[in-house]
Amino acid sequence: MPRRHERSQTEFARAQKSIPGGVNSPARAFGGVGGTPVFMQKGEGASLYDLDGNRYIDYIGSWGPHILGHRPPEIIAAILAALDRGTSFGAPTELESELAELVIAAVPSVEMVRMVNSGTEATMSAIRVARGYTGRDKIIKFAGCYHGHVDSLLVKAGSGALTHGNPSSPGVPAGCTQDTIVLDYNDPQQLTDAFQVHGDQLAAVILEPVVGNMGLVIPHREFLTMLRELCDRHGTVLIFDEVMTGFRLSYGGAQQLFDITPDMTTLGKIIGGGMPVGAYGGRADILKCVSPMGPVYQAGTLSGNPVAMAAGIAMLTLLRDRDPYPELADYTRRLAMGLSEIAKRKGIPHTCPHLGSMITLFFNADPVTSLAVAMRSDTARFAKFFHAMLDEGVYLACSQYEANFVSTCHTEADLEATLAAAEIAMGKLVEA
Ligand SMILES: *Cc1c(COP(=O)(O)O)cnc(C)c1O
Repeated sequence: MPRRHERSQTEFARAQKSIPGGVNSPARAFGGVGGTPVFMQKGEGASLYDLDGNRYIDYIGSWGPHILGHRPPEIIAAILAALDRGTSFGAPTELESELAELVIAAVPSVEMVRMVNSGTEATMSAIRVARGYTGRDKIIKFAGCYHGHVDSLLVKAGSGALTHGNPSSPGVPAGCTQDTIVLDYNDPQQLTDAFQVHGDQLAAVILEPVVGNMGLVIPHREFLTMLRELCDRHGTVLIFDEVMTGFRLSYGGAQQLFDITPDMTTLGKIIGGGMPVGAYGGRADILKCVSPMGPVYQAGTLSGNPVAMAAGIAMLTLLRDRDPYPELADYTRRLAMGLSEIAKRKGIPHTCPHLGSMITLFFNADPVTSLAVAMRSDTARFAKFFHAMLDEGVYLACSQYEANFVSTCHTEADLEATLAAAEIAMGKLVEA
């Protein structure tokens, strides 16, 4: 049933006057689906409530952080307790070591870790450290992988950049990207060729070990294995960007799931428990290059912020103690099967990959293994589906090229309601 969005419309008009596009991050702007972004008022568990009082089952979870749903009581309590002692000191606190120790215990590749304030800062810093460590400049990234809005990585990036049709951005000087080599994901031949030509000049390879930012794309195991071998052979730093997948696919991230250990790892989203946190970590000999221990400069006035650290500690402790990963994967698998069954019954070409609590329904007949295949999806059909689901009270990621996220707060009733909504929404797609 169509919902009223009057207050969202008023607020969007207001926001557009003072904020570029009315949003502080383009992925929120409904650019890929049209219409007015819904302004939110409150989150609770698996639900979001907009300004007009509509309730939605939320499959975005703030684009990743809310694996335990909105406002888990333990995390809110930890934030309030930290606030009671102050918001920021610009001096070290015990909380920073506590979160660092949790990350080191969880993520196989991480022996030391530095906290920053966003995923973008994490990848930007990791690339700098890899270059400083190796004394080399060139890096490899993959088409469709998004690593934040870092100059040198904003080439054929996925996510918002892809949705808005500018995967590479004006304002990035050619000099910033001249050392960035872009290859196709899941293509071992291109990888071998690139290492043959540039091997001994390559500082780093950075990738999403499981991609969320062109929609969910799962790596071929041989691709990851070959990457590890080539980086070892050429002294190149292998960086897994686990800003999305860290603590999401398993407590140790994609690297634990696939049993491949990178040299460096970037984290964000879940690690902040809903507060702005990023982190980069890895082998101790590499991290020892970072200032003030080593010569590679990287700093942050609010880095390791005590309120954010407290939220992150509460989040990681809950995930470690509860091990919610099997139940999350079970819900997600049944959601994927349900959506596929409806699409199949209605004769809608689709593929619905899922892994752990990540899922994308592609309106694409082929298995999506790379950006080239993802780009053949029917985005007009996705836009219709998105709005029809919104009308039925299901808040999906507002682009075909995004992963959706399940939280531990999603219930059997939410699953049934989501599939009932999908039945109606897909029905609209095949009407005359
Ligand atoms: C979200 C994301 C980033 C950027 O993180 P921000 O906190 O938005 O700067 C980087 N890499 C990946 C894989 C992401 O999903």
